[in-house]
Amino acid sequence: MRLIYDLNLKDLEDYLVDKGLKPFRAKQIFKWLYEKNISSFSEMTDISKDLIATFNEDFYIDGLIIKDRQTSKDGTIKFLFELKDGNFVESVLMVFDYGFSACLSTQVGCNMGCTFCASGLLKKQRNLEPGEIVLQALTIQKVLNERNERLGNIVLMGTGEPFDNYDNVMKALSIINSPYGLAIGQRHISISTCGVVPMIKRFAKENVQYNLAISLHASNNELRSRLMPINNAYPLEVLFEALHEYVGSNNRRITFEYLLLRDINDSIEDARNIKKLLKGLDAYINLIPYNSVEENDYETSSDENALRFYDILKKLNVAVTLRQKRGTDIDAACGQLRAKAMKK
Ligand code: SAH
Repeated sequence: MRLIYDLNLKDLEDYLVDKGLKPFRAKQIFKWLYEKNISSFSEMTDISKDLIATFNEDFYIDGLIIKDRQTSKDGTIKFLFELKDGNFVESVLMVFDYGFSACLSTQVGCNMGCTFCASGLLKKQRNLEPGEIVLQALTIQKVLNERNERLGNIVLMGTGEPFDNYDNVMKALSIINSPYGLAIGQRHISISTCGVVPMIKRFAKENVQYNLAISLHASNNELRSRLMPINNAYPLEVLFEALHEYVGSNNRRITFEYLLLRDINDSIEDARNIKKLLKGLDAYINLIPYNSVEENDYETSSDENALRFYDILKKLNVAVTLRQKRGTDIDAACGQLRAKAMKK
């Protein structure tokens, strides 16, 4: 049995042809799945009883249920989902002036071991299947349907390292992007990585326009290796060589995420080093307040230091934004809600 949402249109067409059926039915079925939001195959009234019976043998549709939800004063909603096998994943729905954005998870737990991150508190149990990533977005769209709103943006910044689950992530995004799926444009989809260089190189060769975001968080190897173990395998010079290759091959812009950690990476010198690192890249850097996590001692930078950091980069002509805090009154940091549910 497979999750029906694992299949892109081509997979479903191939499946139908294999059964001696006409491939055009695939679009009909996608309409039921992604537009009419059915919760059982028997709701597909224009599909034969025989095919529905075959579907019930080969596929399941209930891959994910809403287990818990927290709503923040700023409109952010954090979802805890339960998967078919009893594992939990989290997603976050955020409201921006440009529309609704969903932050999705790509793995159950994470093995990257970033010291500040709550996701890594629970080691990776398994990769998410493509359909389990798709279903996070689809379920959030269903919630938005009640308000007549549309999900416009996807960021893969929940639990997990997308480039440690490359094939499933790419398949999921192809379904989310498909006009027959969730029809979210490629430029409205961002993949965030801690810097898995071989996969950045592979991604550079893909003919896609998803945005690439890099979790930078430090501008020298000594500190970055302390915060992010991946830096031992792929230090800054190796990472940036790959990024130059990526930008060069596609003329694309890169987003850098930089957590502001109090007295750790928010000095004047840190800001100046960023300027040097980004030299020659079409890039912008997103400064992110740190969401405190019970299990560690990191704190977000003072407002004063955050603004000083921002001002220095601005003056150095680095394209920079200082992100607003969101969902701080709920457990919005990656992995917090799941970590809590697992403790119970
Ligand atoms: N593994 C990927 C994507 C998931 S993390 C990556 O590392 O990019 C998404 C972003 O949230 C990363 O930039 C990560 O460093 C950041 N992050 C982790 N814990 C956080 C916290 N407590 N507060 C704010 N951002 C956090």
